[in-house]
Amino acid sequence: LSGYVGIDTLQEQMRKKALKRGFEFHIMVVGGSGLGKSTLVNTLFKAQISRRSCTNESEGTIPKTVQIKSVSHVIEEKGVRLKLTVTDTPGFGDQINNENCWLPILEFINDQYEKYLSEEVNVSRKKHIPDTRVHVCLYFISPTGHSCRPLDLEFMKRLDKVVNIVPIIAKADTLTLEERYAFKKRVREDLEFHGIQFYPMKSLDEDEEETAINQALREKMPFAIVGSDREYQVNGKSVLGRKTKWGLIEVENKNHCEFALLRDMLIRTHMQDLKDVTDSIHYENFRRERLEMHSE
Ligand code: GDP
Ligand code: MG
Repeated sequence: LSGYVGIDTLQEQMRKKALKRGFEFHIMVVGGSGLGKSTLVNTLFKAQISRRSCTNESEGTIPKTVQIKSVSHVIEEKGVRLKLTVTDTPGFGDQINNENCWLPILEFINDQYEKYLSEEVNVSRKKHIPDTRVHVCLYFISPTGHSCRPLDLEFMKRLDKVVNIVPIIAKADTLTLEERYAFKKRVREDLEFHGIQFYPMKSLDEDEEETAINQALREKMPFAIVGSDREYQVNGKSVLGRKTKWGLIEVENKNHCEFALLRDMLIRTHMQDLKDVTDSIHYENFRRERLEMHSE
């Protein structure tokens, strides 16, 4: 008797299934008007992971975003299929009266949960439910160098129990390195003071290894981001960047800004966890509330 059961093949079996089905991942961008949300959507699609799947049609200026709009691309790399959806939203807090301006965003997120739920409870449900739930919401903080606006805090307070929030500092090229550092610290203090939870949540770290990895991330957050969909030649290589009189800011260069850190977290290291937390925490909360509502 060898005693060998063969459970080590499970990993390969799971992998094969997952690869065939592919991955679905949904990112939403929210924040004030003109902070570079639409630009970042393009940056995400054009940067490394998906550069090949995009055409160069979006030269010129980006029109003002007037409604919630989702764009999807299927990206294939080494036999892995990823359907990446990014939802762009209009300037947050543009109105004279900004009371409840977070509501349309909350409704959009809940609509996706609702769709998923109705598929789930459907008796003749499909084997695989299309997952349009928002897995992460990138919240753009204006690079004022001071602190969060009350509206920023309001949004995150309302939404942190509904979706994974990753706060980022927009247009970070407008801050010096010292300003960036001080501003990040200030924002973290603001969030802590107001009891706002951002992803990755401390309370969800599962073991020491995860705590170590996530703590290192949390200490660097909110990431200081620069976005661009323009390509320039650097040493014969095409890079995304912003050209200024005093030089080129390279979006994916870790010495220039933290776009690459954000991209790596979203796509390379934490995608599955973002999906898991969405499913087991945020969606589960929604589901429980909905079902309780019905049973009353
Ligand atoms: P949105 O209203 O948040 O969607 O902002 P847009 O993406 O439309 O960008 C507004 C303006 O800011 C455009 O002129 C962009 O080229 C510019 N912009 C976008 N990202 C950045 C950035 O990271 N740094 C700087 N300096 N400008 C940016
Ligand atoms: Mg826009």
